[in-house]
Amino acid sequence: MTTPVYENFINGHFLKNQSGDTFAVKNPATDEVIYHVEVADEFIQNAAIESAKLGFAAWSAMTPIERSRILLKAVSILRERNDELAKVEVLDTGKPWQEAECVDVETGADVIEYFAGLAPAQVGQQQMVGNDFYYTRKEPLGICAGIGAWNYPLQIACWKSGPALAAGNAVIFKPSEETPLGAIKLAEIFIEAGVPAGVFNVVQGAGEVGQWLTANPDIEKVSFTGEVGTGKKVMASAAGSLKDVTMELGGKSPLLVFDDADVSQAVSAAMLGNFYTQGEVCTNCTRIYVHKNVYQQFIDELKTRTEQNIIAGDPMDPEVNLGALISKKHQELVLSYIDKGISEGATLLTGGKALSPASAPNGYFVEPTIFVDCKDDMTIVKEEIFGPVMSVLVFDDEDDVIRRANDTHLGLAAGVFTKDIQRAHRVIHQLQAGICWINSYGNSPAEMPVGGYKQSGIGRENGIETLDHYTQTKSIYVGMSNIESPF
Ligand code: NAD
Repeated sequence: MTTPVYENFINGHFLKNQSGDTFAVKNPATDEVIYHVEVADEFIQNAAIESAKLGFAAWSAMTPIERSRILLKAVSILRERNDELAKVEVLDTGKPWQEAECVDVETGADVIEYFAGLAPAQVGQQQMVGNDFYYTRKEPLGICAGIGAWNYPLQIACWKSGPALAAGNAVIFKPSEETPLGAIKLAEIFIEAGVPAGVFNVVQGAGEVGQWLTANPDIEKVSFTGEVGTGKKVMASAAGSLKDVTMELGGKSPLLVFDDADVSQAVSAAMLGNFYTQGEVCTNCTRIYVHKNVYQQFIDELKTRTEQNIIAGDPMDPEVNLGALISKKHQELVLSYIDKGISEGATLLTGGKALSPASAPNGYFVEPTIFVDCKDDMTIVKEEIFGPVMSVLVFDDEDDVIRRANDTHLGLAAGVFTKDIQRAHRVIHQLQAGICWINSYGNSPAEMPVGGYKQSGIGRENGIETLDHYTQTKSIYVGMSNIESPF
């Protein structure tokens, strides 16, 4: 059977490359090639820039309310096609249908809807200076690049294009080479909704295509989602043309469970924050610090619920709640971290091996894995694993656990479980992280700004402030009387 070949999406349509280079995309749950994609060669790259320039001219000339109306149309199409798009995400990522069906498309559509609503409300300011005055205009930046990771491909494309397009920019988006289809579907939807050709372009390929985007002088901003190490390369390359950057990077986030917490609720949060999307979520609370008075109760319930309630298998089966990891290579990396955990002396509470479920025997599955009695200096406690691997640690002093939680160069997210309202806020205010939860974990509504402290990121996505990151302020001074000049 021949598999489809997808071309790059430029100036409102598919465009064939000249090199003939393609790459294969596999379904992580079956290890089968499901389609091929053409690489964006030099011809495509030049065409993408020319297309985005034309797109920008047309789009930025429209009023914010016109742009808003068109984007809202795209939002309704996204919602109408929820199931078709969710299926694309399941086949590309290996994540369970029961998640994609209610999260991936919805949270993407929500963000476009949110920024479409905000766009017409963005205003400049005006101030008198004596009899003269000045006013400011919020102008779009121009061509913005988006570079995505593979864990939430469509959602990431929506989160980057929503504010960029609402503010009047054109976008060239490069999805991860592991999951290229969702962004193409979004591009088609934008055209169908009435977004002019050239406003949203999709280029395909691996790091070298990303690198070209970051270095290209016609591009004004790069919004990047991916690993810390790649983020550093992106920022260094973007510095060559002094581009604005937004960096959404990795994490090793702590969850603190105090002895007055609702332990079952904390177990739910720990499981969600480690096993949802088979652990491939940047904000995951992979370091769980549990107060010694509830430690045993916490790990007993955690073990029981993990062993009884997690169902791995064909991700399209609506009963399945643990999918396949993105690639064989990533599965091997996650298993190597598990080996390291064992060799460094952590106690394996459950899991620890590759899995071969009957309904998806060739998929890249890893058992939900929990290490207990972990120590702060173990590799599994220090490094992002990006798989279903949880480390549990014990504590007994508030100040000490805050110090331990902050002892990392990462700072994406953090959480606290306690019924003491003063402690909840006191502790969360001291945690060095950009996205925090109290008696909750993982929710990220469009209204809430998200982004990292320390090496977990720069800038924010979502929330009102993000619109400012996609506009620049022009100040205009207006003289109302004759110029006083000594010349
Ligand atoms: P990655 O860094 O390997 O790749 C991300 C993207 O960068 C891909 O599209 C890739 O092709 C591209 N790329 C690779 N080299 C490049 C270069 N030199 N220049 C420009 N682009 C380049 O990350 P990944 O493995 O796809 O994703 C997993 C990582 O993403 C994890 O670390 C995770 O924590 C992080 N992540 C962060 C967030 C967040 O919002 N903070 C969200 C999702 C994922």
